[in-house]
Amino acid sequence: MTDGSADPPVTRRQTALLAVRATANAILWIGTWQGASWLLFARTAWSGPTPSHNRRQFTHNPGASSMNLQDPYRLPHHVRPTHYDLRIEPDLTTHSFIGHELVTVTVTEPTSEILLNATELDISSAMVSAEGRQPRTGTVQMDEEHQRCRISFQQEIPVGIWILHLAFRGTLNDKLRGFYRSSYKDSHGGVHNLAATQFEATDARRAFPCWDEPHFKAMFAVTLVIDPALTAISNTRIIEDRQEQGKRVVRFAESIKMSTYLVAFIVGELVATPPIMAQQTPVRLWSVPGKQHLTSFGHEIAVYSLNFLADYYGIPYPGDKLDLIAIPDFASGAMENLGAITFRETALLLDQRTATHAEQGRVADVVAHENAHMWFGDLVTMAWWNGLWLNEAFATFMEMLVVDAWKPQWERWTAFGIARAAALSVDGLLSTRPIEFPVRAPKEAEAMFDVLTYEKGASVLRMLEQHLGSTVFRDGVRHYLTSHAYGNAETTDLWVSLGHASQQDVPALMNEWIFSPGYPLLSLSVDTHSTLTLRQHRFTYAEDASAAASPAAAPHWQIPVQLRIVTEQGAETRRVLLRERESRIPLPNNWTSILANEGGHGFYRVRYSAELLVGLQARGLDTLDPVERFNLLNDTWASTVAGMVPPADYLALTEHFHGERDPHVWAVMLGSFSTLHQLLAEEDRPLLATLVRKRLASTFADLGWAPRADERELVRELRGDIIRALGTLGRDETVQAQAGDAYRALQTQTRPIDPNVIPALVSILAFTGDEARYDEFARHFREATTPQEERRYLFSLAAFRNPALLERTLAKTLTDEVRTQDAPFLVSSLLHNIYIREKAWEFVKTHWEQMDRVFPKSGLRRMCGGIVGLSTPELERDVRQFFATRTIDLGGKSLAQYLEQLHIAVRFGERDREAIRAALARTAT
Ligand SMILES: [Zn+2]
Repeated sequence: MTDGSADPPVTRRQTALLAVRATANAILWIGTWQGASWLLFARTAWSGPTPSHNRRQFTHNPGASSMNLQDPYRLPHHVRPTHYDLRIEPDLTTHSFIGHELVTVTVTEPTSEILLNATELDISSAMVSAEGRQPRTGTVQMDEEHQRCRISFQQEIPVGIWILHLAFRGTLNDKLRGFYRSSYKDSHGGVHNLAATQFEATDARRAFPCWDEPHFKAMFAVTLVIDPALTAISNTRIIEDRQEQGKRVVRFAESIKMSTYLVAFIVGELVATPPIMAQQTPVRLWSVPGKQHLTSFGHEIAVYSLNFLADYYGIPYPGDKLDLIAIPDFASGAMENLGAITFRETALLLDQRTATHAEQGRVADVVAHENAHMWFGDLVTMAWWNGLWLNEAFATFMEMLVVDAWKPQWERWTAFGIARAAALSVDGLLSTRPIEFPVRAPKEAEAMFDVLTYEKGASVLRMLEQHLGSTVFRDGVRHYLTSHAYGNAETTDLWVSLGHASQQDVPALMNEWIFSPGYPLLSLSVDTHSTLTLRQHRFTYAEDASAAASPAAAPHWQIPVQLRIVTEQGAETRRVLLRERESRIPLPNNWTSILANEGGHGFYRVRYSAELLVGLQARGLDTLDPVERFNLLNDTWASTVAGMVPPADYLALTEHFHGERDPHVWAVMLGSFSTLHQLLAEEDRPLLATLVRKRLASTFADLGWAPRADERELVRELRGDIIRALGTLGRDETVQAQAGDAYRALQTQTRPIDPNVIPALVSILAFTGDEARYDEFARHFREATTPQEERRYLFSLAAFRNPALLERTLAKTLTDEVRTQDAPFLVSSLLHNIYIREKAWEFVKTHWEQMDRVFPKSGLRRMCGGIVGLSTPELERDVRQFFATRTIDLGGKSLAQYLEQLHIAVRFGERDREAIRAALARTAT
């Protein structure tokens, strides 16, 4: 799956900035300056039970026999499905469906009952049969609390192969999970319905009764009975398509052996592109009618990535066709159903002529990610949900590898610094969790889709890949996939395969990273000029961050440290595996500067002694790679928020970056300025605006408004970021006026405007906009012709400053005007907007029950991420009181993490506001 949260913020890139913000201040807030559309990275929070330090795997199903029925969340193993014959007949007008299934099961112990998962289904009949035996009718008893049904038989069913016959009916819900309905308007305003599925983690049981645990793999043969005017898609190719009593009966080929959460059916008026072959596999993109012209970009990366991945894994694609389908209502970003990947529209469809670099990056990332799952996740699947991180971390890692190979000029691994930074931010909280931890109840798995699973997971895999070497790592992955194809595996199985390929003790290296919360801060200092001392202790934003260093029991990590030691003769790379809390390394006498985390792949922060920092600056920061500059700035800012570095020192460091042309490095700086904007009193914000204009002046003078013919895409992207920051945070009136002119030119098509600048124009015009502008943007939202444009104008409605206008946006979040896939993110944006946040918070409190009812669960969690923007002592008190007096379960540790981030923000403001004001005043004069 890909998370939806990266999406509403308009684009990955903006998301990215946001994430940095997250890192930077451990906070996911953002002001209004760049448009509230940026809100919320927030794959943030989660975690189930108290983190365990148990180093073993948590997986194993206790219910291995019929006797062990103690765990209400795990099914017994003495009846196992091997094949499902599913016939589903949805009715899009009554929002309902009827289903029949024949499940072939293997009974290994005589039993008088069969237990399987089902919820919100009405099972009208149950029977078992076997060749040469009398059929037996069962009695069905639903257990809604545990989402199971128990089928009891008067006579014991003997050991053998049986077929379970079930008839059932259900509702096409509007909660974007299970088998659900979606709708869209055509260009004449006519409303059309479609039905789609979203089963991960545990919602297949809402569509058909099944053994809904990933290790109960089986083959699926699906038949969809539909209105003849509609189209049906499932995991495999169509083998029969006939008319029967006025209906269209579409039968699909049998699938490979796979988990229930990967089954998919989609029914509606959908249209497909012609297929493009990727080796033996026909690849098509699907959308609702009228959007076919938005498919070519997604199609290209889909085919490229499928070929790349088959080659990397050394295994052909495991399905018989691949369809990628854009669904108008979709809770997450995308879902890796084998052969039938579903997407929200912004993650698959775009117009290449008008999409920004960031929007293209988002589609490329998500498509590559889902395709990577066809092997890692679908062919080999985690045994239980505790292993989800491996699926998602690996797909995230592969998405970078694929897109980096496809478009090297995008410098994808530098951009990944932003994702890594987001993980460092959340993982610096006391309320973080280990990457892997025990999962018992299914709902615990739902909340596992967070930044720690995806971004921290992918970061530590990248660190490991760089440590072992990319070829050795790939060989280990091939060994793992080949060994467990069509089956299930655990984290330790991957370590075994990587150990096999590398001949190294991979578990010893990885255990702390995977099974303990947090990560190290590596402090560097030089004694007597000839010895470098490396010390590690856990980084946190806690009041006394050094406290974590003292106890002997404090965690420590095996850190693959890559040093760059520069002498008068040149630079030398030195690799050290730091196993101890402290280590000393002899230095050449004539060293001049030392960099830790060379290449930037390590998942840790670095703190240099004053002498070492001076050495780096003296050599020139432009001698560092962009990702190394990114880390230097980002780590320093995090230490500033944590109270370890005075704000004045951080602001002085930013002065060294006026020659910077990398948008990712700028993202850190702009993110930190945005945080300061939130935290300062209104009367002090002009001081910040002055600083922003000063820091950005030379870059803007260089880039100007129009791209040059030979310009890199990343520079085009940076131009948009710089203009946006100047026009909002920097309150630059010239830029604001120029933005108005450019926007008019865009509307009247009197001069070409680079697509990368358009989001900045929208942000600036919202920031400075009046009611007429608001109405105009609301109309653009309704009449948008691409998913990206629709999203951009929707989120612009949260980026105005006039409270009366923002209140209109608030009201829209609970109307049909805004899809429930987007509304929670819009509320979150408003909670971050300093000009409306008090009222937005009141609105949330007043409408909490309604929001809880109508928003998808994952959306509600994202919305609550907005509380981090309520960073005043008064609001913080009120927020805490609200959540203390209600039983609100957002899943895992989400809420604790949001509250901690809020507290860090408030504390930063209270502690450093005066120092920041003074430092700004000195710079401004
Ligand atoms: Zn995924």
